[in-house]
Amino acid sequence: MTKTEAAQTKSVSDSTRKFSPNWLPIFYFGFVHTLGLLAWPTYLLLGGGIHWQEFAIFFFMFFMGIIGINVGYHRACSHLSFKMSSLMRFLVLFGGASVAEGTLLVWCSDHRRHHKFQDTEKDPYNINRGFWWAHMGWMIGSPSTTDFSNCPDLVRDPWIRHQNKYYGLWLVVSCFLLPLGLGFLLGRPIAGFLLGGLMRLFLFNQFTFLINSYAHYFGRRPYSTELTARDSLICAIFAHGEGWHNFHHKFPFDFRNGHRFFHYDPAKWIIYFGQFVGLTSRLKTTPVQEIYRARIQTHRQKVVTECAHVKTMSEALDAALEQWTSLGLEWTRLKAEFGRKSAQMKILSQQSKTARQEFKVAYATWKQSLKAAQAAPFRAG
Ligand SMILES: [Zn+2]
Ligand SMILES: [Zn+2]
Repeated sequence: MTKTEAAQTKSVSDSTRKFSPNWLPIFYFGFVHTLGLLAWPTYLLLGGGIHWQEFAIFFFMFFMGIIGINVGYHRACSHLSFKMSSLMRFLVLFGGASVAEGTLLVWCSDHRRHHKFQDTEKDPYNINRGFWWAHMGWMIGSPSTTDFSNCPDLVRDPWIRHQNKYYGLWLVVSCFLLPLGLGFLLGRPIAGFLLGGLMRLFLFNQFTFLINSYAHYFGRRPYSTELTARDSLICAIFAHGEGWHNFHHKFPFDFRNGHRFFHYDPAKWIIYFGQFVGLTSRLKTTPVQEIYRARIQTHRQKVVTECAHVKTMSEALDAALEQWTSLGLEWTRLKAEFGRKSAQMKILSQQSKTARQEFKVAYATWKQSLKAAQAAPFRAG
């Protein structure tokens, strides 16, 4: 490391270690979140009653938040994991503003740094500074981001710039006036505002923050043990599918966080079905062979010693995965060159299916041999 680099690292380290109060988030959490937590229960205690209208507003507003933050800010804009139509882009900007988590530019700039510098001093919500720092402390204890040099693609978009410049207006309309207006329409303005506006805001924010804290603390690491990010069904349920965080940090460009069809991930389903109505397109996924490769690598790191039998199974597994991968790559090359109807592609497709089955058998056999050898504590799945 040169002297200049060392000085830069020291300066970043010093500035991030210092707690410098950021008064706007402090006011927001102290006042709006406290109201969000207490106002609706107080209204109930005073005899305001419970009706379906406020719950309808609550779920509608919650859904808008998922579109804004999880589908849009996170997967579409931070990671460019799919393309959005103009209507979808507007829904994302509006839905993102409705949960008061900052402008799209600020959110994405922070999040890109989180992935690029994860678990280091330059990571805005560095988990090594503790659970509460990663959860909320970083927002109230460090200045808001104003440097968007890591988001040149987003800065070019005029709607994104508009939301960034007039954020207060977007926020007041989408976050407060909308639930109030819906409450008036349905005849329950106060309850609609308290539950669908304030309490929804408190809950949505806290559930989002779990991804930076809980999902870097609790759960399993099937795809990489080098990351602090973990997979957790509990977190996925609370955070609308974002709890499959070990997979996400390993393959951040994938539009899915829960990559299996049964993994609970509402944001993934919205993006997937959005294709059929023209809202989303060009969805990026990780080749399944790469996912297996990561899992095998993780399992191998847990194995302390390999007996001769495990070694043989391990070599057979590598050969089967290599064969399946190369057939897949050849199929992709031919598709790009000749299109879908080539006869050679049909043959390759069949060969690839066979290779996949052979790999699955080799994978199961290898796992069995590991278990039998008791080379390391091992959990499948
Ligand atoms: Zn993370
Ligand atoms: Zn991410």
